Amino acid sequence: MNQRPFNDNSYEQFLKEEKIMGSKCQKCGALAVPPRPICVSCFGSQLEWLEFQGGGKLAAFTSIVVAPPPMAKQGFGKNNPYVVGVVELNEGAKIVARITGVEAKKPEGIKVGTALKAEFIHSGEGPDQKTFLAFKPR
Ligand SMILES: [Zn+2]
Repeated sequence: MNQRPFNDNSYEQFLKEEKIMGSKCQKCGALAVPPRPICVSCFGSQLEWLEFQGGGKLAAFTSIVVAPPPMAKQGFGKNNPYVVGVVELNEGAKIVARITGVEAKKPEGIKVGTALKAEFIHSGEGPDQKTFLAFKPR
């Protein structure tokens, strides 16, 4: 699996396999999920894959009422908001993902620092199949 390039395609392929894979810089140790071909910290290009275990905590979030077209198609919008958050993974990297299992209509009840675990949402079929990463309270 070290042969896969450090890009979004590889990342999405790993998600289909229910793996969260990011890049780790061999020089400075900086992490990135999704992976980047160049280290975001020292601009080095000596990278290795790191599998994240999917545990983390909520660092920030927002309740979205104006849904972009793909989400609107799934029925989200003004009367059915959804939550997107920044999740700080236990390994130290931060990732932006949908937060499920919380009351999007009552964002005041959602707490920063909530322990979360990853969930893989598969949608579509055949070549259109996509897997989205989401997080829900443990
Ligand atoms: Zn680096």
